[in-house]
Amino acid sequence: MKNKITLIVLIAGLGASLLFFGCSSTKAASDEAVAALEQRVSELDKTFNVDARKYVSVYFELSDAYKSRGEDNKAYEAATKGLRLDSLNMDMQCRAAEYEVANANYDLAYPRLAAILEKSDDKKLVALAQSLMDKIPQSYKDAAVNLFVTPMYEKTLLVVFFPGVEDVYKTAITQRIQQEYKLTVITQELDIEESKKNIRDSYSDFLSETLENLILGNSPEALANTLAYLGIAFDDLEDNETKEFFVKNVFLNSGYTEADWEQLKAQYEMQYDANELIVQVLDNCTTESDCLGILAVTGKDIYSGSPNNNFLFGLSSENVSVMSVNRFIKGETDKVLAAKRAIMQAFSSTGYIIGIPRCSTPLCARAYPNSLDEQDMKNDVLCPSCVQSINEVYASLK
Ligand SMILES: [Zn+2]
Repeated sequence: MKNKITLIVLIAGLGASLLFFGCSSTKAASDEAVAALEQRVSELDKTFNVDARKYVSVYFELSDAYKSRGEDNKAYEAATKGLRLDSLNMDMQCRAAEYEVANANYDLAYPRLAAILEKSDDKKLVALAQSLMDKIPQSYKDAAVNLFVTPMYEKTLLVVFFPGVEDVYKTAITQRIQQEYKLTVITQELDIEESKKNIRDSYSDFLSETLENLILGNSPEALANTLAYLGIAFDDLEDNETKEFFVKNVFLNSGYTEADWEQLKAQYEMQYDANELIVQVLDNCTTESDCLGILAVTGKDIYSGSPNNNFLFGLSSENVSVMSVNRFIKGETDKVLAAKRAIMQAFSSTGYIIGIPRCSTPLCARAYPNSLDEQDMKNDVLCPSCVQSINEVYASLK
């Protein structure tokens, strides 16, 4: 009879989301509670989008706290800050729109309300949105529908591609920027590979972290049984190949398949420091006086250079942006969908380059996405608020 042995298994919930939602209360928030939230928000304001997004509920909690004290102006400010990171929070969209309608700022309120009416299943919220929409004069609604960018083809944007970006994405990005931003796009192929300075091997980090969690989260007996079962000694785990063998086998013994493992592994690859790529672009590209900035596109996975950052879709520094199509296309057979993702990131990066404010309109191409699912829910068009911002920048260039 076969000996029954206990093997260690992966612990579910590793790296669980840190998101939490505060309970809304009708009681006015205390001075201490507001001060504590304000402190956390001021710390979040200084962090990267990707990191701040994990704690976006803090902005909404602060908005709730202000609202409970009748401080509508501050409640609105905190809500819109949070919406730049999580534009799909429809309750907060409605709060922002309510404030904007009350202040006759219909250009901002209209797209928010239109998105709630289009996307929300919450009947109460939809009714409130409709009542606010009814307060917006018809002339504003017509203007919002017809709003378009005033062409600025005398100005250019230089779009440069690192080697290996597929033509389908090159074409999609350049054409759609030209269509939506109505400026002249000039392209350039870079003949240099992405800089390996500060490169990070995320797969190796994943293996080490998983191994550490397995050792800490299981009994010494279970660990010893597993090592014996796999025919390896504890000290062998120092070796990278053995580490991979061990983690993979624990994964497979936890009920996952070989295909699951390959899918998991595909998420991890060498990650390039986006700041270094920006330096490369500045060193290797020259621009004419009519050029508003440079958008560089890479097929490599990128990160911010900080150990706390998992990955980036894009990074900007003044009038240079770098964006990665890596996570948009990896494992995705639908190239139209992959291109749509790339286009939206290109719109977002171009907005940074020309200097328009971040967007908090739900479903706008430039609204901040925290994941691919959020990116896929959006439309690859700019909202009226972004269009207006572009026109203001263009008018100032004349
Ligand atoms: Zn927008």
